[in-house]
Amino acid sequence: MRYLLAIMIFSLLLPVCLDNNVHAEEQEDVYGKRMMLYQKVEAVTNLPWYYLAAIDQYERSVRLARKDLPKAEGLSGIYYKPEEWAGLLNPNIHDTNPVSIQFFNGMGFDGNGDGKANITDDEDVLHAFAQYLLSYGTDHDNIKIGLWNYYKRDKTVGIIIGKATIYKQFGKLDLDQHAFPVPLRSNHSYKNTWGDARGWGGRRIHEGTDIFANYGVPVRATGYGIVEMKGWNRYGGWRVGVRDINNTYHYFAHLSGFAKDLKVGQVVEPGQIIGGVGSSGYGPPGTSGKFPPHLHYGMYKDNGYTEWSFDPYPHLRMWARQERASLKKK
Ligand SMILES: [Zn+2]
Repeated sequence: MRYLLAIMIFSLLLPVCLDNNVHAEEQEDVYGKRMMLYQKVEAVTNLPWYYLAAIDQYERSVRLARKDLPKAEGLSGIYYKPEEWAGLLNPNIHDTNPVSIQFFNGMGFDGNGDGKANITDDEDVLHAFAQYLLSYGTDHDNIKIGLWNYYKRDKTVGIIIGKATIYKQFGKLDLDQHAFPVPLRSNHSYKNTWGDARGWGGRRIHEGTDIFANYGVPVRATGYGIVEMKGWNRYGGWRVGVRDINNTYHYFAHLSGFAKDLKVGQVVEPGQIIGGVGSSGYGPPGTSGKFPPHLHYGMYKDNGYTEWSFDPYPHLRMWARQERASLKKK
């Protein structure tokens, strides 16, 4: 009987394990193909691949976060409305002729040299954006100006430049690894309290998960990202904000202090210590001890024009599970 049960469980689990492996390999393959695409465009335009990767990844993340845009299907995530591609005054919004598209000032471009500017071709799509940026220049400052004129939003430009910095530093696209925000071996506890009412400072809801731990327990970056904010806030006390490559903002509050030399604009990786658990906040700078020490951990998503909080609890559970599994392997 026990035997039978074991076989049943095994056969239930097996397809899942196999499936995960296939997905991991497919994903690696996608990263490889994308990198080749970026480097191909870099070779022709002199635009560094990590800017192209950053724009592409920004657009892909925005499309995933918004319901009014179609999901990215090809290798490239950049989205153009048909009329942007063809040109606003072009009578044929599905135009693929590079000459008439250029005449009507459309974004469309024939990147792969097949004589057509095809809105569903990855090379054409990426080259089109590169061509747009080339009209400004290939150096950092001119790329920033080009991005600003395209998106008309400081935050978007900041997020894209941040991603480019991260890609440049690590030299790869596969930056999906995560870590639990405090060492798994430390004494800590957390519950799902997202959305609970909070009293201090007026009516607010709890936008995060509280991880209770002792003073000074290391607080670690939960993914690859760039430090976007560091400082004091009367609610959060000493806090750090890290933006990852999926447009997600990771918020760490009530810290006892920051890691030495941590600064805004610095690139961090999963597991890197950024501060310590504390009880700072609920008053002017330096206020501490008004509640038990804990890390308040929040996650926020940006969709290109607004940002909202979502529940980090399921992610925390998943990262803890993944980290335990990888520790076991070692
Ligand atoms: Zn909290």
